Amino acid sequence: MMMDKARSILKEYFGYDNFRKGQEEIIQHLLDGENVAGIMPTGGGKSICYQVPAMMFPGLTIVISPLISLMKDQVDTLTEVGIPATYINSTLHSNEVQERVYDIKNGHYKLLYLAPERLEADYFIEILKEVTISFIAVDEAHCISQWGHDFRPSYAKIGFMINRLSDKPIVAALTATATPKVHEDICQLLNIPWENTIKTGFARDNLSFSIIKGQDKGKFLESFLKKNKEESGIIYAATRQEVEKLHDRLLKKGYSVSKYHGGMSDGQREAEQQAFIKDDVSIMIATNAFGMGIDKSNIRYVIHYQLPKNMEGYYQEAGRAGRDGLPSKCILLYSAQDIRIQRFLIDQTINDPDKQKQDIDKLQSMINFCHTEDCLQEYILHYFGDEHAEKCGQCSNCTDERTIIDVTVDAQKVLSCMIRMGERFGKTMIAQVLTGSKNKKLIDFQLDRIKTYGLMKEKSAKEISDFIEFLISEQYIDVSTGAMPILKVSNKGKDVLLGKTTVERKEQVVTVKVSENNT
Ligand code: ADP
Repeated sequence: MMMDKARSILKEYFGYDNFRKGQEEIIQHLLDGENVAGIMPTGGGKSICYQVPAMMFPGLTIVISPLISLMKDQVDTLTEVGIPATYINSTLHSNEVQERVYDIKNGHYKLLYLAPERLEADYFIEILKEVTISFIAVDEAHCISQWGHDFRPSYAKIGFMINRLSDKPIVAALTATATPKVHEDICQLLNIPWENTIKTGFARDNLSFSIIKGQDKGKFLESFLKKNKEESGIIYAATRQEVEKLHDRLLKKGYSVSKYHGGMSDGQREAEQQAFIKDDVSIMIATNAFGMGIDKSNIRYVIHYQLPKNMEGYYQEAGRAGRDGLPSKCILLYSAQDIRIQRFLIDQTINDPDKQKQDIDKLQSMINFCHTEDCLQEYILHYFGDEHAEKCGQCSNCTDERTIIDVTVDAQKVLSCMIRMGERFGKTMIAQVLTGSKNKKLIDFQLDRIKTYGLMKEKSAKEISDFIEFLISEQYIDVSTGAMPILKVSNKGKDVLLGKTTVERKEQVVTVKVSENNT
């Protein structure tokens, strides 16, 4: 019965005939008066999950969101379709806030968008105590967790604030981040029963993932753009400077480009964003500052020009492609040098060793994604805790037709060399010992005296390095994080040394060993 009502609201205000996967279940929990967590991929339709029930309850629904810059848009859209909504955040003058508070107390609104900081103010809690609250929707709920990629201290206080309201309201937490730790934090901090989690499949069948390695990025980009001139797409770069550089270059070549990064003024950013959303320009070049909450359905490709800092950010950004369900491409241009940029950014963050270690681990998972030879979609889904993932059949690994060869012996050479070196070095030193390099540091450590010295001298240091990356991504080697990454043989790797498992890899393109740089 109630669901029929929900469906008629969906049709009347939003013009949709049916709920998407997960939406109905989340709404049902709210209607039953139960706290609920909704984990859905970007573009999955999280807003409907609180906007529809907001119209079914008698009181005011509070939406907590960190996206201040988008609140006005969201409220405007709701107002346009006839849903009375408003927002309160730091962009308003105090008299505007007062006016809105007055209207809220008089029951003028069904939805109130709030920046989380407001809940820290006592006077605001007092105001909310006077209002009938239908339920509280916590959008971007991963911001509550230290394990998330976007922790906000004020989010951590939401649970506490909710407890201070006279009638403890129902809570709906919504996020696109589903790592088990984040999920646990959300449930615990917002008092959501674990089983009240609605998780829709994270697989996005219309997206084809590719990792491009060992190619000139600039050339690749231009040849790609030439072939996709008419299409709308986003190019993500790691730094503001890189965005500017790419923007200038493509503009000079006559491409229709916008740019977006934190170093631009609000007005400038807004104008560039609007031009892209309205299809006045087809390419957006941006840092990760761009895109949260952007609802543009016809994005046909997302290119990562540099390695992103973690899988959460990567999948959120890549997931902006193909929201309309049509086939779209997610391309990551990998170069080992870009790891340094991300490492530098992590090292620059506040002096919090735990947080830094966490960030380094996340970066490692991102690097492993670039080196795995298994299905990329499957890797992503496993990362987000979906154990039933299947091969997608369309990513750059699934469509890679090179033959699979047995590389167990090479793996054993690398792993036993690591053990002989005392498992206290990084990739470069291991590769140098195996090629028999005369590097001074190596000689100083007397590593030229161990049995595996020069054991793979027919290969280049680069080939061995790549092979080590592969062994890391397949978890034969663990990376312990410190100032310098130190490699250790994992349990899986020990099985290889004991001859209990074999290692298989796609046949590598033969590279000619020209000269070794031993310095
Ligand atoms: P999210 O917040 O999960 O990233 P949104 O709530 O912005 O996603 O929704 C993404 C898009 O899907 C929007 O254009 C929205 O209007 C559309 N959408 C949501 N629910 C439905 C539905 N039941 N039927 C059709 N389209 C929907």
